[in-house]
Amino acid sequence: MHKIKNISLLAIISILFISCFNKEETIPAQTELVIGTVCTINLFDDGTELLYEILFKKLSEIENTMSVNIPTSEIAVANQNAGIKPVEISQETYEIIKASIDIANITDGAFNPAIGPLVKIWAIGTEAARIPTTNEITSAIVRSNWNNIELLNTNNEYSVFLTKEGMALDLGGVAKGFAADSIRSILEENNVQKAMIDLGGNVFAYGKKTENTPWRIGIKNPFNSTGDPIIALSLTDTSVVTSGVYERFFEEDGVRYHHLLNSKTGYPENNDFLSVSIICESSMLADILSTTVFVLGKEKGMGLLEELKIQGFCVTKEKEIITTNNAYNLVEVLDPEFTKTIF
Ligand code: FAD
Ligand code: MG
Repeated sequence: MHKIKNISLLAIISILFISCFNKEETIPAQTELVIGTVCTINLFDDGTELLYEILFKKLSEIENTMSVNIPTSEIAVANQNAGIKPVEISQETYEIIKASIDIANITDGAFNPAIGPLVKIWAIGTEAARIPTTNEITSAIVRSNWNNIELLNTNNEYSVFLTKEGMALDLGGVAKGFAADSIRSILEENNVQKAMIDLGGNVFAYGKKTENTPWRIGIKNPFNSTGDPIIALSLTDTSVVTSGVYERFFEEDGVRYHHLLNSKTGYPENNDFLSVSIICESSMLADILSTTVFVLGKEKGMGLLEELKIQGFCVTKEKEIITTNNAYNLVEVLDPEFTKTIF
């Protein structure tokens, strides 16, 4: 009898041990379609099923809160109530809108979180994409004025009011960066040592690849985005975010219309740039600035990065790679067709 008891105890311990072991077993990098893009997270030795689940759940939550395409999201509800009333928002949404307005203010709206009406009429990246009429553009420009966003924080209760009818927020140029920062925080809380986060090209290289090696990140060729990378960056614990003309666009009569819009002209920004990449610990700031610098163009955009002392570079239509002073040595050019200069 005693012996039987011992055997069953042993069996229970073994089952417990196996199930605990299974919980901790690592699984490979995971990819999901979320926040409107392909998101891949690789947690290497810390990659448990549970942790991946927590991270992708966080991305879904962010999408459900911030996507304009989900009618119940905080942003969609704020847009539905434009010109009617303020709506309650979470602290996270408040912080993103606030950071966006701050950059809009210092760049005279080159980055514009109220760009929703213009994004909607161009519909770039969707089946409905087309060149809007002049009247549509004029009307959308008027409704895209970020000065008409009222953001309120009263004793930690947050709200936003779009004071004019027909206004609409669009956080497509910033929320992926915010999402990468949120993932990073969860990894820190869980003592994860290293990870690679790629949210549709918005990359966070978390920790070090190995004790003595940084991560190596490739930057796409904007002339051929499916080909080999043209630049390599060696990075540790930082984010790199690229905004380019080569993924979301349509062409008509030989002209390319892409998704980086100038809310003064109402058209996709047409300057010398094909892509802009920003390297910065805050992925949200990198995301905002990649869009901003693209819209500002070479002189103002690269000048802004120098002023803020943030590392970045652009690839131009003339196959020139122009870097900020502090990024020159970081940018390793892999394709001899491209030349590298300092701004
Ligand atoms: P970025 O340069 O970072 O951003 C470009 C995007 O920012 C544009 O697409 C536009 O939305 C906006 N923008 C353009 N010009 C300006 C400007 N001057 N100032 C400020 N913003 C500007 N895509 C889908 O197709 N379907 C979805 O359901 C969907 N849901 C999403 C949900 C969330 C929470 C997020 C973050 C994104 C979602 N997206 C979705 C993708 C989104 O619409 C953008 O196209 C995407 O974030 C573009 O990122 P990017 O890195 O290519 O370019
Ligand atoms: Mg951006």
